[in-house]
Amino acid sequence: MDLLKQKYWFDSLEFQREFHCHVPLGVFCSRYGTVFRLWAPTAEKVVLHLYDNGTNGSALESHPLVRESRGLWLFETERDLDGMYYEYDVTVDQVTRRTADPYARACGVNGMRSMVLNLRRTDPAGWKYDVSPATGPETVIYELHVKDFSWDLAGGFAPEDRGKYSALCRCGTTLNNDGEHPTGLDYLKRLGVTHIQLMPIYDYGSVDEGGPAQQYNWGYDPVNYNVPEGSYSSDPYHGEVRIRELKQAIHALHQNGFRVIMDVVYNHTFYLHSNLWRTVPWYYYRQNEDGTASNGSGCGSELASERSMCAQYILDSVLYWAREYHIDGFRFDLMGMMDVHLISRIQAALDERYGPGEKLLYGEPWAGGQCNPRPGIRLCTKDHLRELPAQVAAFCDNTRDAVKGNLMSENSTGFVNGGHFNAAYMRRCVTGWATDYDACVRAPSQTITYLSCHDDWTLWDKLVYTLSPAKKFLSKSPKVLRANRLAAAMNFCCQGYPFLLAGEEFGRTKGGVKNSYRSAPVVNQIDWTRAWDNHRLVEYYRGLIQLRSKLPCLYEKGPEAPNRVRSAVDLAPGCAGITLDNTGTGSKWDKIVLLFNTSTENRDVDLPHGDWQVLSDEKTSFRWRQNRILSGQIPLAPVSAMILGRVSQ
Ligand code: CA
Repeated sequence: MDLLKQKYWFDSLEFQREFHCHVPLGVFCSRYGTVFRLWAPTAEKVVLHLYDNGTNGSALESHPLVRESRGLWLFETERDLDGMYYEYDVTVDQVTRRTADPYARACGVNGMRSMVLNLRRTDPAGWKYDVSPATGPETVIYELHVKDFSWDLAGGFAPEDRGKYSALCRCGTTLNNDGEHPTGLDYLKRLGVTHIQLMPIYDYGSVDEGGPAQQYNWGYDPVNYNVPEGSYSSDPYHGEVRIRELKQAIHALHQNGFRVIMDVVYNHTFYLHSNLWRTVPWYYYRQNEDGTASNGSGCGSELASERSMCAQYILDSVLYWAREYHIDGFRFDLMGMMDVHLISRIQAALDERYGPGEKLLYGEPWAGGQCNPRPGIRLCTKDHLRELPAQVAAFCDNTRDAVKGNLMSENSTGFVNGGHFNAAYMRRCVTGWATDYDACVRAPSQTITYLSCHDDWTLWDKLVYTLSPAKKFLSKSPKVLRANRLAAAMNFCCQGYPFLLAGEEFGRTKGGVKNSYRSAPVVNQIDWTRAWDNHRLVEYYRGLIQLRSKLPCLYEKGPEAPNRVRSAVDLAPGCAGITLDNTGTGSKWDKIVLLFNTSTENRDVDLPHGDWQVLSDEKTSFRWRQNRILSGQIPLAPVSAMILGRVSQ
């Protein structure tokens, strides 16, 4: 069949009616036997090859699969094949392709061969009783790469933990083993973030799992969607090890009070001719009008989330990670390539199983290029966020760019580094862009408020580019530190979910590198020496995190939350004040005033009537622990923020 004809056939309801298959796919083994199920509706022939290892050598045995209805292929045996590795030969239009199982849940090194595995063997001690910690008033998301976390020698990690899942299990590490300055998990606990978003932990292809430890990649290149990445494990050759070690890490994070969010990339695969493609050529991929691969990801391919078995694949994968690995939330890479219907379905399925809102969903509301979904399909871009369930959130580039300048140029500026600032624009940031005639979202529950993530310059590097002519990224420029504090205060004064790239709180630098996806680990690593050198900045973030959880006017996320903003006034050039109603919530303060001075001058501003307690100022965000009361006219330091609360009568 020619490509174009096939594209329309795959898109058709007729195809869906004939071949949509509800049977659980993949391999299931027990002492009663083993069953292999593969969905390959266009195949003429499927042959299974079994191996005793996941790396090399020829097959021990081979068996043809039997074709069932709805495109399903089956092989059953009374033997328990737990621990065996396997591949398929799938013949379509007389071309036979060797492939691993797209539904594999375990695999050998580099994901080349799939593995039959009784998953109960991978459960670590205590896993049965693993529970996610209870949530508090606020969710603060911290984006972390497994290798970054423990690569730095100064972190005090054991050599075998460096860059591995196991480092996430270790309490008690300190800076150069000094016994005094916590690093790793203890550092994170002290910081007070609540959710750890792990950058890709599914099996990706850009790092050779059997190769040297110095290799590095962020991992946005999926190979096996339902298997953990092997290079973070102590043994990538035995499929059960990576699974057990990832579960141990998640269990440790849960026990230490963190929820765990997984970064998922269901928008493209490492290469077009993936296991999905080789099993059902083209079905899982969007195509251009000439039948070639559409490239909405900018990475060479584009998954067709709207085709029913592709949607089922993605839904099953998310549910699998939630069930088998106790994942608490999902961050969808380029969510703007996926259709509104599927994301809504995923949220509904998770809500039904775990309770409303228990699993957090959010993503990037954009694509990496022109997408080509079936006509009539609505994608989760900014234009369509309002059509998603109110608990699905999206990264807010409006606030990000407003505060520090956009991503197009290193010299572009925002509120904190010399750009234009006014009360009306800040008000929109504060309400998480959920008000106004052109609101992107229905409520702050749909907004991820952030200044930096793995992409683009770190906040520190962007501020150095715009504020420090000498471009000394490692310096502790007071000017840059002041701008960083103001930026952090602004971010934590915006409704929505606060989010930060690991290390933003200590002025993390990549030496000005914008896209470090395959830079050396030393460029990307968490620099634990710097974390302690800049601990005053860390304290500023820590205080803001704690203060925010006391201010319902900021952490509430319902559609009414933006109405708490009562006024937003320009007080002087570059200087604005925003008042919020904080009543009816048991908080100590019934009104909150946010004061921002983006200018480089001192400003005298008049407080609204009443006695105001200083909660945070340019020096400390822990001011709320004292009882400093102000009224009337007060001075506002250059490039600084002040948060005040009126003590309830
Ligand atoms: Ca891999």
